[in-house]
Amino acid sequence: MNVPSYAAQSATAPLAPYRIVRRDARPGDVVIEILYCGICHSDVHKVNNDWGNTHFPVVPGHEIVGRVVSRGSKVSRFREGDLVGVGCIVDSCRVCPECRAGHEMFCEKGVTFSFDSLEQDKKTWTYGGYSASLVVDERYVLRIPSGLDPARAAPLLCAGITTYSPLHQFGCKPSDEVAVVGLGGLGHLAVKLASSMGADVTVLSTSHGKEEDAARLGAKRFVVTKEPGALDALAGKFNLMLDTVSATHDLNKEITLLRNFGTLILVGAPPTPTPLEAFSLISGDKRIAGSNIGGIPETQEMLDYCGKHGITADVEMIKIQDVNEAYKRMLKNDVKYRFVIDMATLKA
Ligand code: NAP
Ligand code: ZN
Ligand code: ZN
Repeated sequence: MNVPSYAAQSATAPLAPYRIVRRDARPGDVVIEILYCGICHSDVHKVNNDWGNTHFPVVPGHEIVGRVVSRGSKVSRFREGDLVGVGCIVDSCRVCPECRAGHEMFCEKGVTFSFDSLEQDKKTWTYGGYSASLVVDERYVLRIPSGLDPARAAPLLCAGITTYSPLHQFGCKPSDEVAVVGLGGLGHLAVKLASSMGADVTVLSTSHGKEEDAARLGAKRFVVTKEPGALDALAGKFNLMLDTVSATHDLNKEITLLRNFGTLILVGAPPTPTPLEAFSLISGDKRIAGSNIGGIPETQEMLDYCGKHGITADVEMIKIQDVNEAYKRMLKNDVKYRFVIDMATLKA
C-alpha cells in the first residue's frame, strides 16, 4: 500500500507531504485507518535530531488512534470497525524473557518502535502515525475503552503510559506528596493520573501561565521554579517526583525537594546531560530512577484505568498542514496540553 504521510527529510527541513509504503497484511496483522495522532515532544526531538540518532526521512507519530479496516486470517482479537490504539511499540521478538514479561520495550533482540526504528528483519525502517494508515500485528494493538473520546485518548498511547507506568511501579498512593515537574503533554496527564490515585500533587513549572489549569487538572499546589526562594519552601516534601522536562535543567535542586528515601523519576529526555552531585542523593538516602514508556499489557491496563476514571488529554486539534507551527509552539512551552493531528486533513 502506498499511503500519504508527512515526513522530515533532514533535521533542518520542515515536515512535508511524503508517500510511504505499508506492507501487505500478514495473517496476524490488522490494517488501521489512522484518525488521530498526538504530537509528543519525542517527535520533536527526533525530527530535530536532538538525540543524534535520527534516520531520515522520518515520519514521526506514536500516539495513534484509528479504526480497523481489514485484518489477516489469523487475527482473533479485533474486527473491522473496532476503535484501536497503537503506541510506541509495534514489534519485538516475542519470546525473550522481557517480551514474555510484557516489557517489550526492553526486548533482548531489539524492540521495533513505531517510527525511526528497524523492523524485526533489521533492514526495514518504520514510519509512524503522521500518515493515513498503519499495518501492525495484533499483539501490539490496544483496545480504546468505549466512552473515551478518540482524539483525546490518542495522547494516552505515549504520554499516558509514560506517566502511569512510573506512578504505578513506584506505588503512588493516597496522601503521597507527588511533584510533577513541567506541565506539558506528559506533565498534565501525570497530574490527572496521580490525583486520581489519591496523591497530593504539586506542579513545578517555569511560569505562572499554567496555574489555573493545574488546579483544574487536580493539582493542590503550583510553584514557579524560577521565583527566588520558591523551592526552598518545599525542601524535603515529596515522596515521588516525576520530571517530564524536555530541556536540560538542574537536577540537584530538584533532589533537595525529596523527603528521605524519596525517589525522583526521570521521564523527560533532554538532549544533553546534567551534572549530578553525589551528596544531594547521599544525604537522605534519596533515589533517582528512569522510566521508559511501558509494555503492551501495562498500556492496556492504563487505557482501561483511564476508561474507568474518565481520564483523557486536554488537546488542541490541528490540521496536518499546521504541524510545523505546532512544533515551534511546543519549543516555547505553548500547548494546552497536547497537539493532536486530525488525520482526515491529510486527505484534504
Ligand atoms: P512538552 O509537552 O513539550 O512538555 C515539556 C514541558 O517541560 C514544558 O511544557 C515545560 O513545562 C517544561 N520545560 C520545557 N523547557 C524547560 C526548561 N528549560 N526548564 C524547565 N522546564 C522546561 O513535552 P512532552 O511531550 O510532555 O515530553 C516531555 C519529555 O519527555 C521529552 O523530552 C520527551 O522526549 C520525553 N518522553 C520520554 C518518554 C519516556 O519513555 N521516558 C516518553 C515520552 C516522552 P512548564 O511550561 O510547566 O515549565
Ligand atoms: Zn512519546
Ligand atoms: Zn524480545
